[in-house]
Amino acid sequence: MRSIFDITISELETLLVSENFKKYNATQVFEGIYKKQVNSFSEINNISKELKIYLEENFKIDKLEVLEKLESSDTIKYLLLIDNASIECVLMKHNYGNSLCISTQVGCNMGCAFCESGTLKKIRNLSVSEIVLQVITIEKINNIKLDNIVIMGIGEPFDNYDNLIKAIDIFTTNKGMNIGSRRITVSTCGLVPKIKSFALLKTQVNLAISLHASNDKIRNKLMPINKLYNIKEVMEAIDYYIDKTNRKVTIEYILLDGINDSLDNARELANLVKGKLVYVNLIPYNATSHSEFKRCDKEKIDRFYKELITLNVNAIVRREMGKGIKGACGQLRASYEKKDI
Ligand code: SAH
Repeated sequence: MRSIFDITISELETLLVSENFKKYNATQVFEGIYKKQVNSFSEINNISKELKIYLEENFKIDKLEVLEKLESSDTIKYLLLIDNASIECVLMKHNYGNSLCISTQVGCNMGCAFCESGTLKKIRNLSVSEIVLQVITIEKINNIKLDNIVIMGIGEPFDNYDNLIKAIDIFTTNKGMNIGSRRITVSTCGLVPKIKSFALLKTQVNLAISLHASNDKIRNKLMPINKLYNIKEVMEAIDYYIDKTNRKVTIEYILLDGINDSLDNARELANLVKGKLVYVNLIPYNATSHSEFKRCDKEKIDRFYKELITLNVNAIVRREMGKGIKGACGQLRASYEKKDI
């Protein structure tokens, strides 16, 4: 049976009208499911008995089960069960509110050398409801409203583009969850055609690009996707996105000791982003189980950061969260699947 969390409001309107219900019934259902967060259709008291029966026969109000939970002072990492697989999401408590980092795929095929998620290949895309239910589940069990959603968990969001766009539609529908687009961020490793499609949607959703290198030689080694879409093409896609949306883009750059952290790299990076409406987010590397990479010490991070600032690049060093609880992307799931937690 289909999950009610799989369907956007406009799809539900079309469906209900085709079943001889009224278009506004979709709004009532969305308000019941997302605002009141009912557990059964019978609890939606402003709809007809016929509609309740129709919904009960055709949709389920499902939920995700928590398999594991790891907690630190500022972060709770959850492993959720979906259909014989597991996915991660991470609740981060900032002083400005609660953010949830959610996954879009089971595993990932992008194979970035520094990333734990890539050690477990993609098994499948998450469905729309599996993306949406991460948010609902965490809100329900913590009795909170999330302030921000970051789509940077396991998987490449733009490799599951259609489901991602529908999930964002559901998050932002004002009759439903009503999360402001500007409070949602999608991070991609740089799938150029999808960056362009996303630009044309003209949402206010924030876009972050995992660049992680200042030239193709380094990026080819770190991120296999660079062989398909190199830095020049990614930068052009960023220009295109900014041109269409007038929205600032985040450039993510993990600092890896001795690999991409020299002053020359900082200058090269500054050249790449010069004059663009972007800011650079410098990310301290989170060591993973398998990798040959080392984290830069604080001095090197500072040196890189200061060089960017001197060259008039808008930059920040990302505050680290979830240390000691397998905080890096994919670490909890990887350790669970390999059964060593
Ligand atoms: N596939 C998407 C989103 C998932 S990864 C993307 O590539 O952007 C989310 C972010 O975490 C990316 O910037 C990714 O490069 C970064 N990341 C992955 N492994 C990391 C690690 N070990 N330490 C720090 N950041 C990491």
